[in-house]
Amino acid sequence: MEAIKAPRGTRDVLGDESWKWAYVLKVCGEVARDFGYSEVLLPIFEHTELFSRGIGDATDVVEKEMYTFIDRGDRSITLRPELTASMVRSYLEHDMNRGPQPVKLWSSGPMFRYERPQKGRYRQFQQVDFEILGAANPLADLETIDTSMELYRRLGLTNLQVLINSVGCPKCRPIYREALKNFIADRLGEFCETCQSRFDRNPLRVLDCKKQGCRDLTESAPAMVDSLCDECRGHFDAVTSGLSRIGANDARVDNRLVRGLDYYTKTAYEILAGELGSQNAVCGGGRYDNLAEAIGGPHVPGVGFASGIERIVITMEGQGAHMGAAPAIDIYAVTASPGACTEVAALVHEIRAAGMSADMDYMNRAMRVQMKHASSTGARFVCIIGEDEIAAGTVGIKDMASGEQESSPRSGVVARLAEWKEVSK
Ligand code: ATP
Ligand code: MG
Repeated sequence: MEAIKAPRGTRDVLGDESWKWAYVLKVCGEVARDFGYSEVLLPIFEHTELFSRGIGDATDVVEKEMYTFIDRGDRSITLRPELTASMVRSYLEHDMNRGPQPVKLWSSGPMFRYERPQKGRYRQFQQVDFEILGAANPLADLETIDTSMELYRRLGLTNLQVLINSVGCPKCRPIYREALKNFIADRLGEFCETCQSRFDRNPLRVLDCKKQGCRDLTESAPAMVDSLCDECRGHFDAVTSGLSRIGANDARVDNRLVRGLDYYTKTAYEILAGELGSQNAVCGGGRYDNLAEAIGGPHVPGVGFASGIERIVITMEGQGAHMGAAPAIDIYAVTASPGACTEVAALVHEIRAAGMSADMDYMNRAMRVQMKHASSTGARFVCIIGEDEIAAGTVGIKDMASGEQESSPRSGVVARLAEWKEVSK
């Protein structure tokens, strides 16, 4: 029988790496706390309609990338491809619009998209997501951009490029849409098939086609920012002029950055990292003032961003950023004679109860093998108990860094180890 492997586009993050994920999430939690976002834990699957209405039928995600199935109760269910729609659903479902505004929420966890897997692009990946709901003010846009930048600063990322654009609103976007369509129409036949199929339904997406031929064709296309209505123009100017205040003075306006759906409004932004190759976006965000209505709620302005944890980790590795240290055991207790194993287990128990980490042999292995195992766990100290130590009421302690060894009375050994650990911190 052929061995069963993890499905394409998924991967097991093993112990030599998973601590990096934990580190990134810990920093996310600290940033969330310092900026006043509260964490919500959301379901991994939702009614398919939430995404088809909340992200939009004419997007890649909804058209081609969703994991959708009919459950045993005959409902169409989708594994979430993103968090914003769930955040807004949750906000509405729990009447958060009736309380003080704005509401700042964050969440994280696995997302699912049926994509072509490559470096930095998976079918199951982790995102962290921050949203501010109930605030139409450009200060909220700046706050989310600041949140992402502060997150990356704390994670030690450098050389990030902030790209920003405005996708307007239902008042000014249709005018731009027509201008863009007229521009494209002249040479429509020269665009790729995907762009041609988007021409009618979602022409703004033609601007973010990755194919060089299409990019060349749209090089001199009209820019959305030149067609903004007064309100969107004022909003965009407030955001861009505020960027230097939050240390993003090298942010660049990118006319190709679009969402292209009616419920995405005004600000769209991305943060790029060179280390990621062609999957270069470490974060994507923007404003979605009409999303709550699109999923059947009242008008609730919102703005936020999502960032891929895998891409953060890849960038941190590429830049040699500090990620804390791989977890290591403080103390490994070696059983020097088989009869001492219960004593060793009791000591390990006491050490852990005193707040240190400890491990021991569970396989009746020779002392030499145990010592090897001890160094492979990264243990700082090794305790040795055999029949001689039991008879003498002592424990041998070896400092693995200096190689020094001493004998300590059994009764005081835990205190002695705690002292050593404190000093060697
Ligand atoms: P891309 O243009 O790379 O496909 P996107 O616009 O689809 O990105 P968003 O929906 O804005 O991405 O998601 C926010 C972030 O989530 C991205 O900037 C990226 O860091 C991460 N991300 C998106 N899709 C994937 C994926 N398939 N695998 C890993 N990370 C992803
Ligand atoms: Mg994508």
